[in-house]
Amino acid sequence: MAMRFDGKVAIVTGAGGGLGREHALALAARGAKVVVNDLGGARDGSGSSASAAQAVVAEIEALGGEAIANGASVTDFEAVKAMVAEATAKWGSVDILVNNAGVLRDKSFAKMEIADFQFVMDVHLMGAVNCTKAVWDGMRERNYGRIVMTTSSSGLYGNFGQANYGAAKMALVGFMQTLSIEGAKNDIRVNCLAPTAHTRMTEDLGAALPLEALGPELVTPGLLYLVSQDAPTRCILGAGAGGFERAYVTLTQGVRIVGEDAPEQVAAQFEAISDRTGEIVPEMGAAQGMIELTKAQKAHA
Ligand code: NAD
Repeated sequence: MAMRFDGKVAIVTGAGGGLGREHALALAARGAKVVVNDLGGARDGSGSSASAAQAVVAEIEALGGEAIANGASVTDFEAVKAMVAEATAKWGSVDILVNNAGVLRDKSFAKMEIADFQFVMDVHLMGAVNCTKAVWDGMRERNYGRIVMTTSSSGLYGNFGQANYGAAKMALVGFMQTLSIEGAKNDIRVNCLAPTAHTRMTEDLGAALPLEALGPELVTPGLLYLVSQDAPTRCILGAGAGGFERAYVTLTQGVRIVGEDAPEQVAAQFEAISDRTGEIVPEMGAAQGMIELTKAQKAHA
């Protein structure tokens, strides 16, 4: 059966171009009413312009869809609250939030100014926090919500010159892990998308593949699943060039070491500590403590 979003209201941040534009177009094409948010600045976050979001709204309308443009910066909580209030007043709810807005200020950490670290954290992390906070109560009241954080392989695995960006992107994974737990009883499902696509954000990275193989529209099917009625929750989905993968934060079984020479034993047994045989994906943070206590209990049995 076709995946449809009729009757659903979606906010896509940073939807004036790149991945966000594709997400917004696809949601609208499948029946959602869409708030196309974009500050319309440069790749490093400087400047602003209403035209990018308006152009995407015009595209959606030309295809028979319904959308409104919004020029709020995701870093401005008051403006974000006004965006959610406008959508709710017009369409009755916000059911889907796609946190996609982003900027880059790449430099090796040695050369990076604190202000550039802070700015990237503000847009990616606090931008997603602001938007999520603004929709959270409404989703809880209506017992329905689908939220995606756009993370990155740079956060999950690291990338030279992106300490600020990687830290912000991995912070979104932690944000998602807890929100998926807290949102579960109100059917609010929260996931992360880790895309790879040719957009203005990645235009100066040499690509091994022809650029059309990395079209942002190839990522959007993964996003649609993550915000659909039957979405999973607490998932980190990789998507790019038509490939889809899933990333996990895992925990090894480890070993128990106590005593005077524990530091030396941690060093000596580091291979056993690192052994991935029987590793698990904990359902919540407390699982680590449980595994450690179980080892202690076995030692005392
Ligand atoms: P993009 O630069 O085309 O899109 C980002 C959009 O966010 C821009 O339109 C920009 O105007 C908007 N934006 C920036 N600051 C904003 C703010 N404060 N408020 C509202 N809008 C703002 O780049 P993209 O590649 O489409 O990136 C989309 C998301 O995907 C970003 O979060 C990015 O970090 C992430 N991502 C992209 C890739 C990739 O390969 N392209 C890889 C990993 C993660």
